[in-house]
Amino acid sequence: MPARDFFHSVMRIGPVQIGTHRDRHGQTKHAAVCSNDGCGWSADYTSQSAAQLAARTHRCKIR
Ligand SMILES: [Zn+2]
Repeated sequence: MPARDFFHSVMRIGPVQIGTHRDRHGQTKHAAVCSNDGCGWSADYTSQSAAQLAARTHRCKIR
């Protein structure tokens, strides 16, 4: 999992944690981060609903 400053986890969907953090411009981003070792997937979204959708549809390469 990449280190993210000020990452606040707010919910968990399967192996994916969703949280908020601020980017370098001070804007709040919603990040979805897979906690499975060996997957390493993560992405930023501008809304929490988009991050939740991505978390639900995420499929780990490693099962
Ligand atoms: Zn994954």
